[in-house]
Amino acid sequence: MRLSRFKVMLNSSLTAKIFSICFLSVHVPLLALVVYLFMGLQADATLVFLIVLGATLVGTAFCLASMWMLISPLREVAGIVETYRSTGTVTTAYSKRRDEVGIVTNGVSQLVSELNSTLLQLRRQSNTDVLTGLGNRRWLNEIAGLELNRAAREQRAISVIVFDLDHFKGINDKFGHDVGDQVLMATGATIQHCLRPYDIAARIGGEEFCLVLPGTDIDAARSIADRLRTQLESKAIGPLPRGRVTASFGVYRGDPTRETLKAMLTVADRKLYDAKHAGRNAVHSEVAYSIRNASVTPQKRGKRRFNLSHE
Ligand code: GH3
Ligand code: MG
Ligand code: MG
Repeated sequence: MRLSRFKVMLNSSLTAKIFSICFLSVHVPLLALVVYLFMGLQADATLVFLIVLGATLVGTAFCLASMWMLISPLREVAGIVETYRSTGTVTTAYSKRRDEVGIVTNGVSQLVSELNSTLLQLRRQSNTDVLTGLGNRRWLNEIAGLELNRAAREQRAISVIVFDLDHFKGINDKFGHDVGDQVLMATGATIQHCLRPYDIAARIGGEEFCLVLPGTDIDAARSIADRLRTQLESKAIGPLPRGRVTASFGVYRGDPTRETLKAMLTVADRKLYDAKHAGRNAVHSEVAYSIRNASVTPQKRGKRRFNLSHE
């Protein structure tokens, strides 16, 4: 009974383990000496010195190896913390031990996993628009900035679409805020249905949305905008009749080597307001001047210069 209690104490207490290791290590020379004396061998001073020296070395090696094994889960957990801090990668460790080292190892390992999933959840929440499930403006700035850099590096086309629901205030006023919310949710679903996996979509204002389309020239971007426009127009949402929900679109193929996302959105916004002024439920577009200019062949450019000089 007492022995089993001692075993439990030894198993669960780091202090007891360290004490046992130190006690054994320190007493190895004494044990060796006792064994030597009990064997009744002659009391040769040199031999006794060599035995004590050898036993001291054995005790030291035993102490070192035991301490090394004792703290090895802590080394593992230090690696987990270091890897997570430097690369954000989560690795786990599990120790069967019931002492403080086992508790710290399993606890820290679990805390790192929990911290990571909480951070991921918070990041997702802070980047997502609750109503539509699309990204928000903060997320758009982060992600689209990366896409613009990639498009500039790889010399690929990139287009942006900004669109705004038409007479949305009227829907709220006449049918209530809940129906307005329903329209926003349906718009989010329509966008998600229309887009390719690598396209970026965000709700950037009350009833204003933005799409960033990597690898998309102006014709493809226009047809995506038009597809969205017709899909929204053909939707009957809640008590709203088909054709009540429409949107106006501004499409712009920017030059990622010269323009920032903000600059591209400003032009797309201008085109959107052109579409509003032209009667709404329409798509207006523009291509960056540098791209338009570059797509004019040198031959055509020469011709144009020639014509101009004759005008
Ligand atoms: P326009 O065609 O010129 O864009 O007219 P509009 O009525 O759509 O534009 P306006 O800017 O006058 O109204 C936008 C409305 O959007 C006003 C605001 O109450 C509403 N709104 C903004 N956010 C939300 C939201 O989360 N839910 C609901 N239901 N309405 C919202
Ligand atoms: Mg509007
Ligand atoms: Mg608006």
